[in-house]
Amino acid sequence: LFQLRLRHLANFQVLVSRYASQLAHQQYDVIVVGGGHAGTEAAAAAARVGAETLLVSQKIQTIGALSCNPSLGGIGKGQLVKEIDALDGLCGRAGDWAGIHFSILNRRKGPAVWGPRAQLDRQYYREFIQSELLSTPRLTVLEGSVEELLVTEPKPDEPGQHRVTGIRLANGSQLVSASSVVLTTGTFLAGSLFVGQTTVPGGRVGDAPSSAGLSHTLKERLRLRMGRLRTGTPPRIVKESVDLSLAVLHPPDTNPTPFSFLNKQTRCKPEEQLPCHLTYTTPGVEKVVKESLHLNCHIHQDTKGPRYCPSIESRVLRFPGRQHQVWLEPEGLTSELLYPQGLSMTMPPEMQLSLIREIPPLQRAEIHTPGYGVQYDFVCPTQLSPALQVKSTQGLFLAGQINGTTGYEEAAAQGLWAGVNAARRALSMPPVTLSRTESYIGVLIDDLVCRGVTEPYRMFTSRAEFRTALRPDNADLRLSLKGFEEVGCVSSERYQEALRVKNSLADALAALQDLTLSRHNWRKMLPDVHISDAKNSVLNGMAVLQYNQVSYEMLASCFPEVLCPFVEFSQRLKIEAVYKPHCDLQKKEMDRIQKEESMFLPQDIDYFSLPVSLSQEVREILDRFRPSTLGAATRLQGMTPAAIVHLLKYVKQTK
Ligand code: FAD
Repeated sequence: LFQLRLRHLANFQVLVSRYASQLAHQQYDVIVVGGGHAGTEAAAAAARVGAETLLVSQKIQTIGALSCNPSLGGIGKGQLVKEIDALDGLCGRAGDWAGIHFSILNRRKGPAVWGPRAQLDRQYYREFIQSELLSTPRLTVLEGSVEELLVTEPKPDEPGQHRVTGIRLANGSQLVSASSVVLTTGTFLAGSLFVGQTTVPGGRVGDAPSSAGLSHTLKERLRLRMGRLRTGTPPRIVKESVDLSLAVLHPPDTNPTPFSFLNKQTRCKPEEQLPCHLTYTTPGVEKVVKESLHLNCHIHQDTKGPRYCPSIESRVLRFPGRQHQVWLEPEGLTSELLYPQGLSMTMPPEMQLSLIREIPPLQRAEIHTPGYGVQYDFVCPTQLSPALQVKSTQGLFLAGQINGTTGYEEAAAQGLWAGVNAARRALSMPPVTLSRTESYIGVLIDDLVCRGVTEPYRMFTSRAEFRTALRPDNADLRLSLKGFEEVGCVSSERYQEALRVKNSLADALAALQDLTLSRHNWRKMLPDVHISDAKNSVLNGMAVLQYNQVSYEMLASCFPEVLCPFVEFSQRLKIEAVYKPHCDLQKKEMDRIQKEESMFLPQDIDYFSLPVSLSQEVREILDRFRPSTLGAATRLQGMTPAAIVHLLKYVKQTK
């Protein structure tokens, strides 16, 4: 795979000029606006489902760019990457190609909440995504800025229902029609950049914001409720000017674990990986922050920033007197720059230099690019269906930072699902949804469309109530089969591999269940393991594998004929065994939620005249959010158990 990729990259420039020059058609099934993490997954997914797709992005060279941190995955986010990969998305394989430091976070906790993470080479990541898109059948990539959405006014028989018909490119030059449009404008919608006391329009440093026409269509014509959020990025530091001997070395894992279920190894060899370094702020940092406050207009804005990725200004003002961690991370295999994670800041550039020089390894550091902040518009995501379609505008899908999320992985996950549904709509197929019980992507979308956001939303394992079942190791079994059989976004190659894994695991689990021995015999076989006494005197292999000290390899050496054929799955089988009792307990609750998810609430119900006993407040909530299922109604804030019982009765009566 990697050999092929290298050959592909050699042809890359040629491909860019071929695709960027002229549009093949004026009519597409799906148009995706924006080539960030949401847009690239959306475009690739729509094309995989079978739609003739156009991806329009302001600059081809920034397609797949990592705007902020050069890393992928982590706790909660790594789960999303594995699920995107299981649905044949791009970012997992791109991470394996571009990763230069792989580690599994949270290893001290159970495997369900391990966070696969990689430090990335920015350039390799971008190049992988671009070459992948340019070689995707049915996908055309166009460099251009979308000025306006083309929408029809509601018809008298469908009040409040607009329909999207296409886009207008910048300068009003070109109209392109499509049945579905996916908007993924990230931090660019009415974007403003902040450094010190200077504010300029922009979506990211070096890039113009999205045109005012686009915001106008969303706000004024489609009357969507919008809000404003902000985020920031640290200065990039010249590596040569940093004394890394004064920081604590953090080596990568000795055996890098690939994100993708299709890859057995990463491109970067274990010994070629680069380390990260950890250092801490000093009281001098706090002093510079306080002295520069009057020169820092971003910090005084009312808009909400990312709670879990705060600026250094917010950190020292919130927790004065504390030392704060700063990670010094490589930006690429041959990059001259370091990314100081934890030092996002928006004070004037000369104060940024004073601040970083208060940190011991950075005493002589030079800044290559100053940190800055960005403010942008987002659309309140409760106006979307679980397919990520705007409820009041047929054919318009939104994904990524435009929905109030933060992070590459959250954007990519939504992009993939919006792309799938945009394609299915264009091809006259029904929408598909993912439940909270089967994926983190389902949790993410459900949280957005049912609960909305008040601050930039990021994924955590604690958001998933069934996290012991939604593990990184089993994302292929949860999603690749469904992705092929029901959704249409998974290749037959991946499907065949997922089937092979599923069947092998089933055979291995059956073999373990069949290995029934007395406790006495198990003790003789595994003398170092303390097999407890209990009423039932026999134990099967599955129960023995649940013991901490027992590995699958140990059992395989006792029963080589039966168990050795499955030794490639030893880690997965151990994890299955450990979590089985807990997952069995959760099954009932999962079944209940799945049942509620299958009870659809008609989208045209008049909640105010519904002949059931509901308070005015509940009727208003239901009217405002228009949940698509009983399950979604249950999770709306302000819903009462009594109201759900009445709704359930109503749904049953009308079935
Ligand atoms: P983006 O990656 O922003 O991509 C949007 C794409 O749309 C771009 O390619 C743009 O050119 C294109 N586009 C926009 N408008 C148009 C148009 N009208 N026509 C054509 N193309 C258009 N994330 C974190 O998790 N933590 C952080 O601390 C963090 N800090 C950040 C700091 C800064 C300064 C920035 C800019 C981003 C930061 N991010 C952070 C956010 C992270 O970059 C995003 O979460 C992620 O990139 C969102 O992906 P997206 O696809 O929604 O949008």
